[in-house]
Amino acid sequence: MKFKNNKLSSIYQKIIGISDEITSREGPLIIAGPCTVESEEQMESIAGELSQLNIKFLRGGAFKPRTSPKSFQGLGAEGLEIMRKVADKYNMKIVSEILEPNQLDACYDLFDIIQIGSRCMMSYGLLKYVGKKTALDHKPVLLKRSYSATLNELLLAAEYITEQGNPNVILCLRGIRTFEQTDSQMRFTPDLASIPELLSMTDLPVFFDPSHATGNANFVLPISKAAINLGVDGLLVECHDNPCDALCDGFQAIHPKQVAELIGKS
Ligand code: PEP
Ligand code: MN
Repeated sequence: MKFKNNKLSSIYQKIIGISDEITSREGPLIIAGPCTVESEEQMESIAGELSQLNIKFLRGGAFKPRTSPKSFQGLGAEGLEIMRKVADKYNMKIVSEILEPNQLDACYDLFDIIQIGSRCMMSYGLLKYVGKKTALDHKPVLLKRSYSATLNELLLAAEYITEQGNPNVILCLRGIRTFEQTDSQMRFTPDLASIPELLSMTDLPVFFDPSHATGNANFVLPISKAAINLGVDGLLVECHDNPCDALCDGFQAIHPKQVAELIGKS
């Protein structure tokens, strides 16, 4: 299996200054971190462990799209500032989600990669806004598949961004909703079969999120391995140093030790 780094190298090297050493190695690029930023101590502990594994991309939600408005909504701009500080300390890049244009405007310089989540994939006004805002600097945008979107709809959503002048869109599969959820231990149906199909439909990098796709930490490693075998360019994995106490999605978070296992460093 050969990792198609050529698709990503211009994004990594020119745009976010990741070195040759990262972009030329084989294997998918790993973005890891908690579902949500909870505190500086939490991010410090997770980023410290991940950077020992030579992981260069830290994820963490500051603006969270929660199903219930009563659930923890994220720390907002303060969460992004925490992430930036910790990521800079460990020489990592950050990937974080926005839900609204004003969040992007307020925190633009703090992001390295802007995530647009599953629920916002069809917010065409937001997609256009992000495309316009990033047209000058080509800051990469990681666009997640809506859990009810076809692959064609995902590609058309990506076009809303690229048409405005930013070609650096990363597509991320993250599980879809099917009849299986009626009696499965998984939160969504991992859309593994979409990996080779999407790769054949586009030159954009294709990532996979095994955490939301399964919603169950027990299945994150086997599904990740399957995604790697199917040729994904990268994985977006939720990990937490103390999954039982996580404020969000702890049931699907793996420990950094399991990230080590995933990348063959345990
Ligand atoms: C996330 O990555 O934190 C997230 C909310 O994912 P999704 O948009 O795929 O549900
Ligand atoms: Mn999550």
